[in-house]
Amino acid sequence: MQSDRRNFIKFVAAGSVAAGCPVDLSLLAAPAPAPEVDGEQNEICHQVRDGHQLSRPPASARHDIVIVGGGMSGLSCAWFLRDRDFLLLEKEEHWGGNAYLEEYAGQAFATGTAYTSKRESGVIGLCRELGIEPLPIDCPDGLILNREFVPHAWREGLDHLPYPKNVRDSFRKFKQEMLKMDLMKRARELDALPLTDLLKGYAPELKVWWDNYGPSNWGATAADTSALVGLGDFQDFAADEPDERVTFPGGLGAVSRKLAERLHTSHKDHMLAGATTVAVEQGKSDVTVTYVHQGEVKAVTAKAVIMAAPKFIARRLVADLPQAQMDAMHQMRYAPYPVVNVIFNFDPFKKPVFNGGYDTWCPGNAFTDVIVADWVIRNLPDGGRKNSILTFYTPLREAERARLLTEQGARDLAANVLRDWQKLLPGSDVDPIEVHIYRRGHPMFMATPGTYTKLIPAARQPMERIFFANTDSTGPVSMTSGAIAASQRAIGEVKRMLAGR
Ligand SMILES: Cc1cc2nc3c(=O)[nH]c(=O)nc-3n(C[C@H](O)[C@H](O)[C@H](O)COP(=O)(O)OP(=O)(O)OC[C@H]3O[C@@H](n4cnc5c(N)ncnc54)[C@H](O)[C@@H]3O)c2cc1C
Repeated sequence: MQSDRRNFIKFVAAGSVAAGCPVDLSLLAAPAPAPEVDGEQNEICHQVRDGHQLSRPPASARHDIVIVGGGMSGLSCAWFLRDRDFLLLEKEEHWGGNAYLEEYAGQAFATGTAYTSKRESGVIGLCRELGIEPLPIDCPDGLILNREFVPHAWREGLDHLPYPKNVRDSFRKFKQEMLKMDLMKRARELDALPLTDLLKGYAPELKVWWDNYGPSNWGATAADTSALVGLGDFQDFAADEPDERVTFPGGLGAVSRKLAERLHTSHKDHMLAGATTVAVEQGKSDVTVTYVHQGEVKAVTAKAVIMAAPKFIARRLVADLPQAQMDAMHQMRYAPYPVVNVIFNFDPFKKPVFNGGYDTWCPGNAFTDVIVADWVIRNLPDGGRKNSILTFYTPLREAERARLLTEQGARDLAANVLRDWQKLLPGSDVDPIEVHIYRRGHPMFMATPGTYTKLIPAARQPMERIFFANTDSTGPVSMTSGAIAASQRAIGEVKRMLAGR
């Protein structure tokens, strides 16, 4: 795209990258060290954990349960505990974490989680309780390669992939062999192997495909992916079964939004947004949670605390974690993952910019895949549609995190997405009205070998009065269903502890 053309388009950047360091440096008593923006750095958070610099005010309130983190996991904890005295603390000014949607002229688009499956009883059950009905997607994923769109790429599309015949045959052979593999029997062995071990002997284009697919779904290329996780996912989407996926316009942010709305109506005083937890310390008969809200350091005590923030943050906040648990949390890796939404004018008399499939994979570009934001309502007579919105998934390697630190870095990334999209297909060279980029520095734990069967079980061990939720307590990959399953498990543990069992 020419730069003068690009200057006409409005780029909107939101989100933050420095989420790994939940401390406002101006609140530290001693002179503030140079700001650390990379979440994998420990220095400041260790100071906070050790209580060296932050004042510790006396507790101003006592609750039965304090929940740290208001993403899907923390929100669902609050929902399931709504008949108890809970306090939910969230550092952002909005709820939802990675399940957060935004709107353009009333039309929703996802900044994170997109869809779930009818088989995920935790998410579906929660939607039912909230009175919202997810809509069927009914469209296996397609692929765009060499300016050609191939629908249902791993199913009937396999015969039409724009590769030479020997490569198509290799893809077909991989599918046949991998669908036969008994993953349950070989789980531990496969979770210790990188996926690349299973790609040996197949066409190199297959690795290119996985290096595009894996980062979008679990933050890791084939070399960093557990073979168990890769194949588990493959057996799900490549089998010639009906597409069971469901979503809402704008993705699963619709669920967190509804949850937050309902909880706000009944439990406003038990929910605090813009409240960053900075320390969680277990005493003899309770836990003290220190947090910063509106520039003030405050403390509350609780009979139990549920840590629904991710482990790379939890390990910095919870004092006296057992060493093995701390090590497991420390070894978990998190991918930087911005999402770019591009808004186009919609002309009802013309075809939309792209409507070929719900989720379409595009190896070799500045984005991995693109989702049609209003897919599930596109055929409604009105559908409320004023614009066409495409959601581009843009996971980065860990070493690229710094690209998100500046507004300009984020804009450049979004401009690259637009540039590649406009060259991708005949007819895709259309200028948008606006481009939105939502930056997140560490939103997705990476499904590296051993994470699912070793690190996660070690990292989620309950302490006496401190319990661990968040999707990174469940696995095998970061999913909304895992976030809810983690909250259900943690609540079971809390209830058993409170009942003296
Ligand atoms: C780009 C992207 C696409 C995805 N697509 C899908 C999909 O299609 N389907 C699917 O099922 N899943 C998907 N996922 C995964 C899904 O979004 C997550 O698994 C889920 O939202 C995690 O919820 P959570 O509550 O466990 O964690 P989070 O969303 O990480 O929530 C944790 C919360 O804790 C807060 N917090 C952190 N530190 C503190 C602190 N010190 N004090 C107070 N609060 C704190 C954070 O601000 C955040 O709100 C996707 C994820 C990403 C990033």
